Amino acid sequence: MNTDRVAQLLLGWYSLHYRPLPWRTEPTPYHVWVSEIMLQQTRIEAALPYYRRFITALPDVESLASAPEDRLLKLWEGLGYYSRARNLQKAAKVLVSEYGGQLPADYDHLLSLPGIGAYTAGAIASIAYSIPVPAVDGNVMRVLARLTDNHTDVLSTEGKRVFTDLAWQLVPEREPGRFNQALMELGETICVPGTPRCSQCPLQDECAAYKNGCADQLPVRIKKVDRRVEHRTVALVRVENSPPAVLLHRRPDTGLLAGLWELPNTLDEDPLCSLPPEIAAMCKTVEALPAAKHLFSHIEWRLSGSMYSIPTLTTLPDSYQIATLAELHTAYPLPGAFRAYTALFPRLLDEES
Ligand code: SF4
Repeated sequence: MNTDRVAQLLLGWYSLHYRPLPWRTEPTPYHVWVSEIMLQQTRIEAALPYYRRFITALPDVESLASAPEDRLLKLWEGLGYYSRARNLQKAAKVLVSEYGGQLPADYDHLLSLPGIGAYTAGAIASIAYSIPVPAVDGNVMRVLARLTDNHTDVLSTEGKRVFTDLAWQLVPEREPGRFNQALMELGETICVPGTPRCSQCPLQDECAAYKNGCADQLPVRIKKVDRRVEHRTVALVRVENSPPAVLLHRRPDTGLLAGLWELPNTLDEDPLCSLPPEIAAMCKTVEALPAAKHLFSHIEWRLSGSMYSIPTLTTLPDSYQIATLAELHTAYPLPGAFRAYTALFPRLLDEES
């Protein structure tokens, strides 16, 4: 990717297509700050009337710092996330006492203020003070992931680092604020989530994902799933038939792994509780099974248990079956959840053992 050309194309496009929002037409540090905080969880169209009302009522850092809290919260009423308003005022008080009522023209000092993170500090520094630092939000990460056809998960710490590094390389010395706004605007209006509008995009010739035909698959977002952890104990029972066999259980016809064969297992600490009492009574413990783990979409099984042996079985209760090594391969394939234990079958069911 030619970074100079990307900046040139993007700035040219922005001159023609930017939306003349009040914090853009009059980009004082205070205006940029208030607008960026409002836009953190609110769409532009919804934030506009609030922004106008807020700036009219509290036009500068001093008036914000000294506003009674109920007046401040009234101005914020309807925007939600009231901690944003409280942090604005906290930071305004710091600005009055330590910075003469001005927002500092320094990225690190901005970052040290309550409620100001890397994105907001970057936006204020670049837009209001023309400091060449990036402002990386979700829109910007999406555009960068597509421009470079980078499949790193944007929700991961690694993804944030990768795309922030990339943004640092891209932001130009000249007009960094307009560049950052152009990148955000492109993400909001053209390089949108889902299917991007590549035919209208000024960066089409520079875009790796467009060339590779995978723009709609980016960015990669891997959501962390909250899984319920179940500690299950497994009874791996060798039946001393000839040839030897292993005892299996058939799961119910509904629910997880419905109708599949499995190694008997239970939520009880004692694996023998997974067996019919008459079979459990015959079990002789051979050795402990190694611990194992298996992830389903919403459940995590943490497995442990024991290996047992029992003499020949002549009758079997409903839902139980025995299978030789050959039958396990052909007729009773077990779910992957038991992989750690099915790996023991060749040793366990070897006729010579
Ligand atoms: S060409 Fe398409 S995918 Fe690439 S930056 Fe433009 S809109 Fe996004």
